[in-house]
Amino acid sequence: MKTFRDFKLNRQLFDALNDLGFEHPTPIQEKAIPAILGGQDVMGVSQTGTGKTAAYLLPIIRILNYAQGNEPRCLILVPTRELSIQIGNTLRDLTKYTDLRYAVIFGGQGTKDQIAALEKGIDILVASPGRFLDLYLAGHIISKKIKHLVLDEAERLMDKSFMSQFHRILEVIPSKRQNLLFSATMSDLVRKISGDFLDFPVEIDIAPDMKTAESVSQGYYLVPNLKTKLNLLEHLIEDPEVYKKVIVFCKTKAIASSIGKYLERRHGEENVRIIHGNKTQQTRINTMLAFRGDDIRLLITTDLAARGLDIPDVSHVFNFDTPIVYEDYVHRIGRTGRAFKTGHSITFVSPADEYHLVKIKKLIRQDIPELQIPDDVFVEKTEYEERQAMLREIDMQKRKDNPEFKGAFHEKKESNLPPDQRTPKKKVAFGKKFGKRR
Ligand code: ADP
Ligand code: MG
Repeated sequence: MKTFRDFKLNRQLFDALNDLGFEHPTPIQEKAIPAILGGQDVMGVSQTGTGKTAAYLLPIIRILNYAQGNEPRCLILVPTRELSIQIGNTLRDLTKYTDLRYAVIFGGQGTKDQIAALEKGIDILVASPGRFLDLYLAGHIISKKIKHLVLDEAERLMDKSFMSQFHRILEVIPSKRQNLLFSATMSDLVRKISGDFLDFPVEIDIAPDMKTAESVSQGYYLVPNLKTKLNLLEHLIEDPEVYKKVIVFCKTKAIASSIGKYLERRHGEENVRIIHGNKTQQTRINTMLAFRGDDIRLLITTDLAARGLDIPDVSHVFNFDTPIVYEDYVHRIGRTGRAFKTGHSITFVSPADEYHLVKIKKLIRQDIPELQIPDDVFVEKTEYEERQAMLREIDMQKRKDNPEFKGAFHEKKESNLPPDQRTPKKKVAFGKKFGKRR
């Protein structure tokens, strides 16, 4: 196994790595660090939690070496505020034995402190695209010294919501520069777009098949309705020794809020936090800090709010429902089993989610074992409204796959029925799969 000493880094970095307790590079670090030190453009793809941040920060810090001038020489673009703060923290840790200066700028907060930070003179700038452009156009950022551009979560940065800002930024920074793209997944479209501005990039593909983290055990429950999902969740997370740090992913803000409130009532407000896009910036930051430290055990969130967040030591990820964007499944379960640790991912599948489960299994090219609802979980009757909504959704899914399909709304096929009305299958003890249960 390689160690960081095998790279042409320097003492300042070895000491910082030592303080962090990082000994062995992760696979993406092993490949990316020498390529970046060699001055090449890099496109690095590896699943969430595999250490992409240090994969580019270490060589960049080595190349920049010491404070010089006042204008940034490296620009790191990131899609979310939380992620920019996390990168800021890693920068703080890794530059601690150097005199390199950095600033972190993002929207949703006043500009005063950010401008003040820029004016002190910096070497590395971490920015969200929108805030970068705002402060650039207002004359607070001089871009002509930028020699290295990093796109962290590159796939997000190139999606529709950021595309035009991203193109404007490319126009205002020097064209002669090193480009570094990192992402957990890389669609063909993104590959094509990046082809336009990358120079013979070194492609590092640690997870070419969208394989999910091997250190994560996965399983799913077929659950007939929302109320039963809540009962099951309650039952499973009861033991704080096993379910030490839990994230519950929900499809929408509304679901996240209502589950969060329910769990707050049951477990006390001090043990539960909810984050989603509607929360203020400060609330989101405080939530993340509380969850990173061991102050809270249960975090309820949506895919959007959780993208790219580095949350260490999560024991269990629950998918309260299947994600709308299937790639998000990989992102979600990547929250657990991070860098050399193991974790568990448990998905709740309603009759209307089964269609999505099939697609997800196909995407990850892996089977996900089914688990049986423990006997002491109360299985609620599906209410009329909820059943109708699910049947409508199932009809829609069938129509999507087969435009000829006329709709079998009232069809009483076994596969159309919620699981509580089907012929029971054989039971597998939950404990076998995910450790002890009470
Ligand atoms: P990614 O960007 O790929 O999702 P991160 O850069 O956020 O991953 O890193 C995930 C976690 O792994 C962080 O907590 C980080 O401190 C830790 N980590 C990164 N590299 C190493 C390493 N070489 N050894 C041990 N832990 C590491
Ligand atoms: Mg990352």
